[in-house]
Amino acid sequence: MPYEIVTIPCLVDNYAFLIGNADTREAAIVDVPDAAPINAELARRGWTLTTALLTHHHWDHVDGLDDLTGREGLVVIGAQADAQRLPPLSRAVGEGDTIDVLGAPAHIIDVSGHTLGHIAFHMPSLDAVFTADSLMALGCGRLFEGTPAQMFESLQKLQSLPEDTVVYSGHEYTATNAKFAATIEPGNSTLISRIDVTETARKAGTPTVPSSLRLERATNPFLRAHSPQIADHLGMSGASAVEVFTEVRKRRDNF
Ligand SMILES: [Zn+2]
Repeated sequence: MPYEIVTIPCLVDNYAFLIGNADTREAAIVDVPDAAPINAELARRGWTLTTALLTHHHWDHVDGLDDLTGREGLVVIGAQADAQRLPPLSRAVGEGDTIDVLGAPAHIIDVSGHTLGHIAFHMPSLDAVFTADSLMALGCGRLFEGTPAQMFESLQKLQSLPEDTVVYSGHEYTATNAKFAATIEPGNSTLISRIDVTETARKAGTPTVPSSLRLERATNPFLRAHSPQIADHLGMSGASAVEVFTEVRKRRDNF
């Protein structure tokens, strides 16, 4: 397969993802926190940027757009539902749409919750989903605009993707998320070993993003609200998954 995905740390703890097609030497960027590190990576690889995929309107995902190399010819794709708050779009998309990115299909999934109109890009031929501030490594985005039920439903959609899907999320929050996750499910041995791996990676300055959907399902408390053990641990035996999710999100806000 000619595709390569490069993780680019930006600003303090953001990630942008550069997708390159080795055959055509063209590239697409997912979110633009800051142009400089992205332009440097493009120059280093000799790739031409053709497309920008925007997940949501927050400044730390879009503000670098106008300073990207090749900005004039760039096709900018973002959510129709968020078009009034995003930079001008070449193409506005929504849930159920499929677009072509460098010759590969990308399915649009509405993952509202963190913001209303937040979208994820699922690229099955790359085993990749770009989730930004919806599903995150060991966490999920804070609910600035949506309700817990909305985020729960968004995560259900992401959770139903194939297990081998790699999850490219928008921030390096995993160490804090890991400490929090341990308070929700202290008896989860897969989680405990992931916490060790996370600490070691962060001490070495290595990104913990992307991660695999398989690992998120096994360890991410926001994907595990259906677990009777978690409900028991929170004193919520018999509560619905969405009720447990709501409580877990509330506890994370106050962590
Ligand atoms: Zn955000």
